[in-house]
Amino acid sequence: MWILEQLARVLDRPLFPWKNVLVGFSLGQFLLENVLAGEVSQKVYDQSQAYGRAKSKFGFISGLSGQIQNLAFVYGDVLPKLWSVSGLVLARYLPGQFQGEISQTLIFIFGFNILTTILSLPISYYNTFVLEEKFGFNKQTVGLWVTDMLKGQMLGIVLGTPIITGILKIVQSTGNSFFYYLWLFGVFVQVFAITIYPIAILPLFNKLSPLEPGEIKTGVENLAKKLKFPLSELHVIDGSKRSAHSNAYFYGLPWKKHIVIYDTLLEKSKPQEVVAVLSHELGHWSLSHTTKLFGIAQSHMFYIFALFSAFVNNKSLYQSFGFVKEQPIMIGFLLFSDALAPMDAVVKLLMNILSRKFEFEADAFAQGLGYSNELASSLLKLQIQNLSTMDADWMYASYHYSHPILTERLAALGWKGGKVTDLKAEDSEKPVKAADREL
Ligand code: ZN
Repeated sequence: MWILEQLARVLDRPLFPWKNVLVGFSLGQFLLENVLAGEVSQKVYDQSQAYGRAKSKFGFISGLSGQIQNLAFVYGDVLPKLWSVSGLVLARYLPGQFQGEISQTLIFIFGFNILTTILSLPISYYNTFVLEEKFGFNKQTVGLWVTDMLKGQMLGIVLGTPIITGILKIVQSTGNSFFYYLWLFGVFVQVFAITIYPIAILPLFNKLSPLEPGEIKTGVENLAKKLKFPLSELHVIDGSKRSAHSNAYFYGLPWKKHIVIYDTLLEKSKPQEVVAVLSHELGHWSLSHTTKLFGIAQSHMFYIFALFSAFVNNKSLYQSFGFVKEQPIMIGFLLFSDALAPMDAVVKLLMNILSRKFEFEADAFAQGLGYSNELASSLLKLQIQNLSTMDADWMYASYHYSHPILTERLAALGWKGGKVTDLKAEDSEKPVKAADREL
């Protein structure tokens, strides 16, 4: 290890980029001392490590409570009981033409959803109003938190009803090859969601306004033109009303894309830095990362449905969990997703490895366009404002991090330090959370 560090010092760049990608391996300490020391004060560093530790402890406790809840559900036969109650509600309150598995499933799912949401309230409240509050990030009021939750529930009912009905009808009517039709339906639902998201869903939670003419607008438009990015609209979003938000992203169908920039990013960055951030984001598009991820998501979904088709008729699976007489399809899917959890851990590890590779590539893309200094200073600023962890254990990072740690990215960008002059001044200010989802 020591030899590698010395070599890296000589070459002034990370060795074997794939090694970083594979194990999230950190030349951390070495880079931390040499690259970050000039930019980040000890106070900010300590604060960011404390924030990272607090979040990690919180993650452990909320994960554990979820696990306990799940076990309690199994031991208390909560699912079969809720299923029978749904049947009683259906028989008593709905007329004959609505009877059947689909209606009972809808009642069951909404009941289950309400139950789990209520159980998760203390954890969610603690996260926003204790943990985030303590580090100065929370900008939400309790009122906003409650309305967000209610809107989310309503949206779940409005979108969930046709989707669940569609899924059950397909499984009931297409026999053994249902997984193929289910998969096609899944692709359709995703494309539909991408289309309606900007028009119907996003405005429920945030206000979008057009970006005002100026250096940033011209810069982004020129960048889009240069890359032949089909930019249709450029918005600013009021992320500052909640805080836990990304800094800039794009979405939309292949021929009509929207770019959204958070007001918090505009507030804290120089125009060229905002353009640099977008050159990284559009790098993801130009290198087909989004298309590749969409493709991977579709194969993942196909594999899940195909595997599910082997589970759905397994009587002993239902019986073990208290469903002796009936085998409702949706219950099968819930039980199946628990059985799938260990495989999901493997999928998560592989996806994070791929994601880190994509991040390095998008950074290199921005570098190729001549934005390496602006991108580096922007990454540093966001890191400081968000108190993101600056150094992490390699094993932890390999599994949990979708992005390479800052020092590795800066080294890959050829950052020598010393060019961000206005960072130290910000140390004393209250941090403003500009991004949760990283670049
Ligand atoms: Zn990225």
